[in-house]
Amino acid sequence: MAAPAFLTEPERKTAVGGDYEVVVLGGGPAGIAAAAGAAKHGRRTLLIERYGFLGGMGTAAGVTNFCGLHANVHGEIMQVVHGVADELLDRIDHLGGLNEPHLVLGKTHAQAYDTAAYKLAADDMLISLGVDILFHALAVGVVMERDGRIRALVVETKSGRMAMLGQVFIDCSGDGDLAAFAGARFEKGDMLYPTMMFRVNNVDPTAAGEAWKTVPALMQAAEKRGETFPRKGAILRPQKHTTEWRVNVTQVKDADGRAVDGTDARALSSGEIDGRKQARAFFEFLKREAPGFADAYIVDIPPQLGIRETRRIVGLETLTAEHVTGCADFADTIGVNGWPLEMHVAGDVVWRWPDIPGSRGYNHLPYRMLIPTTAAGTAFDNLLVAGRCASMTHEGQSAARVSGACFVMGEAAGTAAHLSLAGNTACADIAAIRLQKTLENGGAFLGRSEY
Ligand SMILES: Cc1cc2nc3c(=O)[nH]c(=O)nc-3n(C[C@H](O)[C@H](O)[C@H](O)COP(=O)(O)OP(=O)(O)OC[C@H]3O[C@@H](n4cnc5c(N)ncnc54)[C@H](O)[C@@H]3O)c2cc1C
Repeated sequence: MAAPAFLTEPERKTAVGGDYEVVVLGGGPAGIAAAAGAAKHGRRTLLIERYGFLGGMGTAAGVTNFCGLHANVHGEIMQVVHGVADELLDRIDHLGGLNEPHLVLGKTHAQAYDTAAYKLAADDMLISLGVDILFHALAVGVVMERDGRIRALVVETKSGRMAMLGQVFIDCSGDGDLAAFAGARFEKGDMLYPTMMFRVNNVDPTAAGEAWKTVPALMQAAEKRGETFPRKGAILRPQKHTTEWRVNVTQVKDADGRAVDGTDARALSSGEIDGRKQARAFFEFLKREAPGFADAYIVDIPPQLGIRETRRIVGLETLTAEHVTGCADFADTIGVNGWPLEMHVAGDVVWRWPDIPGSRGYNHLPYRMLIPTTAAGTAFDNLLVAGRCASMTHEGQSAARVSGACFVMGEAAGTAAHLSLAGNTACADIAAIRLQKTLENGGAFLGRSEY
């Protein structure tokens, strides 16, 4: 007999696991900043994370590098993301885990970090602000009060299924899980390709030199001899302790050659295996061909495949490629993005920058891109979405998905949750000017004045 397509589970009661003012799903850069943004105004805040540590793709996928904290402002590279991000950077630095900023493609800066220091710093910062953190909890559904208003987020844990009550919910899951459970509109079309990051140790840094410049030429020479690589362009850089390097070179496809879908469990499973296989193959090439890597070993393949893009919610405003390359202004700015379009397309990485040095090098991020819409096209009352699943086009997301913009969106969402509770209004109805003043008082740069 053929297996049935569905089974009906018995109805059951779900225990209430807690009652909070603000419930944040996801502990990546957006979720860390969202929880901090709400808790620093005294809001009873819960952060839910499926792993046992914070950092999101930064730690779980081994990214180990902050992009988007800086912009090229008329030819001068400056840090343009502040607020909560400053405190986190200070704490990582204090633990000895933060590199000096390094130059990217001669145009802007990025800043590497050690995963252990990031995890510790994020724990310490959120605990010091009084955030309640629930690790090892996978969000699986919502209970709605009515259309457009959420009552509880349901999680599965080792101690059972629980409903977490909240007054405002912030989806920082990267995949828009909470928003999708609640019936928000989203898009998922062409996606940026995922990468399995890995780190190697025991590199001879002097012999390796500027390997990020020389290894691509070695790859081209190997291709002429018939070797193949999953993509062009190797991002290969030293960490704080210069015998340890991160390697960002793999590209993981499904059977049809499209980007593996990070919301498809079976595709993700084969993607993990394929990603590790690619990492091993590239490591063998490095060891054999690249000066300084002969005695290296793989010190870490991270807990999960690095997912750049899945669902993008459809909000009241949508960030586009033109907004990024044209350095757009928005009246409801909550902070800025200085990272260019970085499109991980099939077999390659394609970059598009604002005019350098002709422009100020950053665009505003509007508050309305954090406000999801229901099937009827109206704003949710008590749901915000921050991070890589906020309202952006595929191209716009290729820029503002990086950590800098995720910190900005998260802090704004947490602060907006506080203001909506303070004013007893829907999230969409808070006055942008109050949000902006509150963020600026907390040290954020909104791009309302030139740097
Ligand atoms: C390979 C790769 C390289 C990258 N390189 C860089 C770089 O060099 N610099 C840079 O700044 N950015 C880089 N990025 C982008 C950046 O890391 C991410 O876009 C950024 O981390 C997104 O932040 P986020 O908070 O929106 O989501 P994420 O970092 O994805 O965090 C989401 C969190 O939510 C949790 N979560 C998800 N669903 C659930 C659920 N249902 N229940 C419970 N928890 C859940 C996840 O475990 C995760 O911790 C890279 C990304 C990848 C994949």
